[in-house]
Amino acid sequence: MDTKRFRKHGHVIVDWIADYMEHIEEYPVLAQVEPGEIADRLPGSPPEEPEDMEAIFSDFKHIVLPGMTHWQHPSFFAYFPANTSEPSVLAEFLTAALGAQCMVWQTSPAATELEEVVMDWLRQMLGLPEGFSGVIQDTASTSTLCAILCARERATSFAINKRGFQGGGAQRLIVYTSEEAHSSVEKGVKIAGFGKDNLRLIPTGTDFAMIPGELEKSIDADEKDGHLPCCVVATLGTTSSTGIDPLRPIGEICDHHRIWLHVDAALAGTAAILPEMRHILDGIEFADSFVFNPHKWMFTNFDCSAYFCRDPKGLTSTFEILPEYLKTDVDLRVKNFRDWGIPLGRRFRALKLWFVIRHFGIRGLQQKIRSHIQLAREFESWIRKDPRFEVMAPVTVNLVCFRYHPSQGTFTEEELERSNKGLMDELNRSGRMFITHTKLKGRLTLRLCIGQTNTTRGHVQGAWERIQAAVARL
Ligand code: PLP
Repeated sequence: MDTKRFRKHGHVIVDWIADYMEHIEEYPVLAQVEPGEIADRLPGSPPEEPEDMEAIFSDFKHIVLPGMTHWQHPSFFAYFPANTSEPSVLAEFLTAALGAQCMVWQTSPAATELEEVVMDWLRQMLGLPEGFSGVIQDTASTSTLCAILCARERATSFAINKRGFQGGGAQRLIVYTSEEAHSSVEKGVKIAGFGKDNLRLIPTGTDFAMIPGELEKSIDADEKDGHLPCCVVATLGTTSSTGIDPLRPIGEICDHHRIWLHVDAALAGTAAILPEMRHILDGIEFADSFVFNPHKWMFTNFDCSAYFCRDPKGLTSTFEILPEYLKTDVDLRVKNFRDWGIPLGRRFRALKLWFVIRHFGIRGLQQKIRSHIQLAREFESWIRKDPRFEVMAPVTVNLVCFRYHPSQGTFTEEELERSNKGLMDELNRSGRMFITHTKLKGRLTLRLCIGQTNTTRGHVQGAWERIQAAVARL
């Protein structure tokens, strides 16, 4: 494609994106297609001859788009958000155009140095300890895996890296997290070779937060059995209900037993940008590593996961490789982020963070985050006032867990599960809003998470009206 045609198609596509952003509410939030429907409309074999961009783009609009769930729709209340914003999208254009592979300083000095700078901006914005260093990973799952691997190596003086588990000594290494922790912890434990049997799921209280006394009991029991407690993963903002594990008592236990403390704040970490929410980080000075995802709730398009650690040596000693073909003259004077994570190749993700932070400013980011939290509290108050519903978990940030459960009459759990599932399916089929479910202490719960960039009170109120109307039809 010559630049003349690139320019032409580029303008068409930018116009289309701007229209998409303006008219996103005309699309159904949840894709209204059946499994296989999109694949059936695509040719089974690749084209032999070149095709026109007009034809490709037309198929994008007519075949691909109907199969998309619109995460940027302001009535997207499902899962946790993966929000974005115009400055983030613009930066991604540039990242794609530069096409740089930022594995070491030399392969794009600006990418490395901008990453250092914006990660330190983020550290300051959240109020993380001064000595923490940051690096951008693709996802929180990868960040947590990195933490678990670093914990494994620190606990064994790098014996597993060298000799493998077979030669790493007789002691079983144990990881602890709460029963409400994200599935990425279990995945990390399996990939890192601990084995699922060596992951302890610590009970949570009625607030779905880890009970520190239970953690301590579990660690004591393992030590008594001759095992080696290695890593604790605490969660700020559990996936099902945004439970907040109490960092300070957990940190004190880790400190006492010399256990690596990793903090998974994938969604809720963003809330710490607000001075009034900083309390969730109380005890963060005990953490060895911390992750939160600007790609969830900080208007930076997927993927962008911010990983911080107290001692980067722990990371680089775990991941360092130095083949001849990667050596450069400045290795001793610069950061080579290839040694700060799993993949060698790295996208230039710092650029979109830089665009986003500068575009909104701290004040702009705070306004959005604060409004999402306030809207969640308001939605919670509507639920509490209606005797047909109940709130299922404390609202700690921007997620409301609730269910239909009329105060009059008696219902079995099965009946409640059926009617709540029916309610959710009907709402999602409407295409006007999208919510998802979970189970809390075995009870089916509906989750409404407010974190899309352009969600306003009107959207939340609209959702509440639709929920009420759907319940009236039950
Ligand atoms: N941790 C928590 C608490 C989460 O809620 C999630 C995803 O929702 C993750 C980790 C995984 O995030 P990622 O998709 O970035 O791996």
